[in-house]
Amino acid sequence: MPTKTKSSKSKKSSSSKGVKYVYFFGNGKADGNGKMKALLGGKGANLAEMTKIRLPVPAGFTITTEVCTYYYDHNRTYPGSLDRQIDDAIAKLEHAMGRKFGDVSNPLLVAVRSGARDSMPGMMDTILNLGLNDRTVRGLAERSKNERFAYDCYRRFLQMYGDVVMGVQKRPGEDHEPFETVIESLKAELFPNDPHVSDTKLDASALRTLTDRFRKLIRERTGKDFPEDPREQLRGAIGAVFGSWNNERAIIYRRKYNIPHEWGTAVNVQAMVFGNTGENSGSGVSFTRDPATGEKVLYGEFLLNAQGEDVVAGVRTPEPVAKIQVQFPEVYRQLQDVRRTLEGHFKDMQDFEFTVEEGRLFMLQTRNGKRTGLAAVRIAVEMVKEKLIKPDDAVRRIPADSLSQLLAPVFDARARKTAEVIARGLPAGPGAATGQIYFQANEAEAAAHKGAKVLLVRVETSPEDIRGMLAAEGILTARGGVSSHAALVARQMGKVCVCGASDLQIDYATGTLTVRGKHYRKGDFLSIDGTTGEIFAGEVKTSPSDIVRVLVDKDIQGTDSPTYKMFAQLMQWADQRRKLEVRANADQPDQVEHAVAFGAQGVGLCRTEHMFFEGQRIDFVRQMILAENADERNQALAKLLPEQRSDFVGIFKALGGRPATIRFLDPPLHEFLPHEESAQRDLADKLGISADRIARRVKELHEFNPMLGHRGCRLGIVYPEISEMQARAVFEAAAEVQASGMKVRPEIMIPLVGFPKELELQLEVVHRVATTVQKERNVKISYLVGTMIEVPRACVVADEIAKSAQFFSFGTNDLTQTSLGMSRDDAGSFLPRYQEEEIVRQNPFAVLDQGGVGKLMETAVRLGRSVRKDIKLGICGEHGGDPDSVKFCHRLGLNYVSCSPFRLPVARLAAAQAALKD
Ligand code: PEP
Ligand code: MG
Repeated sequence: MPTKTKSSKSKKSSSSKGVKYVYFFGNGKADGNGKMKALLGGKGANLAEMTKIRLPVPAGFTITTEVCTYYYDHNRTYPGSLDRQIDDAIAKLEHAMGRKFGDVSNPLLVAVRSGARDSMPGMMDTILNLGLNDRTVRGLAERSKNERFAYDCYRRFLQMYGDVVMGVQKRPGEDHEPFETVIESLKAELFPNDPHVSDTKLDASALRTLTDRFRKLIRERTGKDFPEDPREQLRGAIGAVFGSWNNERAIIYRRKYNIPHEWGTAVNVQAMVFGNTGENSGSGVSFTRDPATGEKVLYGEFLLNAQGEDVVAGVRTPEPVAKIQVQFPEVYRQLQDVRRTLEGHFKDMQDFEFTVEEGRLFMLQTRNGKRTGLAAVRIAVEMVKEKLIKPDDAVRRIPADSLSQLLAPVFDARARKTAEVIARGLPAGPGAATGQIYFQANEAEAAAHKGAKVLLVRVETSPEDIRGMLAAEGILTARGGVSSHAALVARQMGKVCVCGASDLQIDYATGTLTVRGKHYRKGDFLSIDGTTGEIFAGEVKTSPSDIVRVLVDKDIQGTDSPTYKMFAQLMQWADQRRKLEVRANADQPDQVEHAVAFGAQGVGLCRTEHMFFEGQRIDFVRQMILAENADERNQALAKLLPEQRSDFVGIFKALGGRPATIRFLDPPLHEFLPHEESAQRDLADKLGISADRIARRVKELHEFNPMLGHRGCRLGIVYPEISEMQARAVFEAAAEVQASGMKVRPEIMIPLVGFPKELELQLEVVHRVATTVQKERNVKISYLVGTMIEVPRACVVADEIAKSAQFFSFGTNDLTQTSLGMSRDDAGSFLPRYQEEEIVRQNPFAVLDQGGVGKLMETAVRLGRSVRKDIKLGICGEHGGDPDSVKFCHRLGLNYVSCSPFRLPVARLAAAQAALKD
């Protein structure tokens, strides 16, 4: 809802007439401009801007988002002056168009559309052809000399208005939309022998009958007459658009994309132009570059003799826009000009809607186009080369998270060769996806919840399917083009998508998909390639992306991969700008190698317990845990020592002189023992001890709340010999690698410290061992010892801890768990509800809770630096790879973020974006 300040600001700017709620555009002039997205919404602001740069935009006006917020703040009523302002705007519009609202011979018809600050495709309502009634429809018929067209517009208007404004919708238990049922029954009467007759076979008189029946349906269902008066129609439509801001799907969408509910939507009222007057007209949606690959071509589609909604709704499959060249060469030439004008002006790839009415081009909308991660990188890098933008802009504009799409798998080349292609559709969201097919969004969601990999298969998708789309690996539709709902939403979510695969016959009732006589049932596996549009039977193995092949597998050269080259260019720009260092969470030498290839400047977290499961190590660990006295424990530790040492040697070598933060043993010991009776027996046989002894030890180690139990530094304090062995392994490995001429920079990290004394006790062990090993080997090793900050107490006594800690690394997984008192392993059962209720906006284990956990971090940073000015500060919880959290860490002034190797490119870009904000 608008703040007091916001309202008073606009009051000031609107002089004595009061607040300006309505902004006009038309005939080359506009009250607003492209910068006013907060007030006019994205669509309204850009309609004003396009008008100003003299693109052919039908005149209209925008009712501001402030009216929406007023509407919700004031019990769904409008500001007093709104009616008058709308009247004035209509008078201007009538003048601009030379037509009158409600005029019987030359009626003005308008489209009423929503338009939030950020686009929310298909989530809110639209009403076209408003202004028609039983009388004006005759005026339209005469003016267009096309009675069928006029009645087609009228029946569409009745249908949309009845549905959206008057609420004539499917009731529980009904299979079809009520208006569709009326259409079907009229077709059955008129064409009893042709059950699949197309709508285009309905002539003017059939359509007139339809309008009568629609009005009757509205009366029956609502007890009210359809309003004849265009002003009343307009009032109803405006209310419905504002109302749709708070429909369920819009709310879900806002939650997913973090669009604040307070923003509200604007309403755009614009003179209608018609793409459905006949074979000389049509509607299209185009992108100034290919939104899937980023290639610089006019890309999109065009539907002859259709209104814009038909293209987006995916009900008919449109033609590629390039085909317009044949039918309307002049329009095609104009579109190419528009392409250049739009990019030259907006300096970004545009997604625009247009209509051709009787051979004349009209622009209905433009906005920055949604694109895949791949396209985002290509477009930005190429626009820099074309001197449209600067490298800073390229870095700023690519959503950091979208880089993870570039690293996403593609189908394994060999598996793909032998896979059976059962059909093809349009490639709409790149990448490879394989999964079990589900036809209903709720079933797909439920299956995914249980851990299945799911493909959502639909004839076409609608905004109601959004939850199923979110849960699916990929989306496959039988109808609709590359700008259909399925395609737009999938691209934005970074989902693999193939759409418009017209060979698929989908029967929702029986849960079957039939392709050329072959049946696939719910739960069967299919695979889809969103880059080529192919659909394969069964599960097809996936393989890594080009970038992974160049950097990790090293089976192709960077110079041979255009994708890699763009990626590398972008990373170079990012690295030149960022101030945060990036490190990786890696525990094995090969992981460290990958991390370095992805740009890691060191290891930020090596979880030593992850090394305990390799080869024989687990047996030694178990012996150590089962030991009945210190002697036995030391014997087991002695066997573990060379193994740990060789692990560290591998890691130091892979790092080539970069620092390695090595964390001492952290998890509760019971995690290493078998809990099943049979496994306990096997272990007993192996170790030559009784199974009872193992069972007894497991019982002893049992804790009611192990996450708050005997773990972290508490292990090293009770069993200092464990820390001693780990310290020895680190320093002996360091001495060995250093002797080979390579620099080593070990940073030993003590977990879960809350009391300064805990750290001091462990420090004593580490320094003692360091001194011994250095003496034994006659070397000098430079090392640091620090602590993880994982409990609130550590944050508030950080000044005391910093007296002995040379660095802090925020373990935000545990810090979130302990600050919120919310188990990181069990929160999944209630977090979705918490998000729905907006108790938390995002999952706090994925995106840092800046307002709570972030404040504790701030305190720790301040206190830590107050004692040790140059204390090194980092983060190694999962948040270290989340763009928003990385930006927060930059603002906190941390030295580095550490994340999993595959998230490093995301972190590098996010860090650069944060630095550009300074
Ligand atoms: C943390 O708690 O954030 C952390 C990195 O440690 P772990 O995930 O191993 O508990
Ligand atoms: Mg932890």
